[in-house]
Amino acid sequence: MADPDELSCQELVELVTGYVEGTLSLADQARFESHLGVCADCHQYLGQMRQTILLVGALAEQDIPNDAKERLLYTFRSWKQHA
Ligand SMILES: [Zn+2]
Repeated sequence: MADPDELSCQELVELVTGYVEGTLSLADQARFESHLGVCADCHQYLGQMRQTILLVGALAEQDIPNDAKERLLYTFRSWKQHA
């Protein structure tokens, strides 16, 4: 492993699902959080992912009505345009 304090935005994006699900190692979690502390973009990204995973997780348990799906997709698209 390289410098344990060094986490790129790309790496953070790759780890975000594990972070939200609580499956990262303590070392990765620490690196993740230290990057979040210095990178506003990733901090915002985490907030969006968290919300998405919660939404998708909650919706997956039941049938997703089409209009809800479209709203979700619309939300994802507007995030992309925003970024
Ligand atoms: Zn970042």
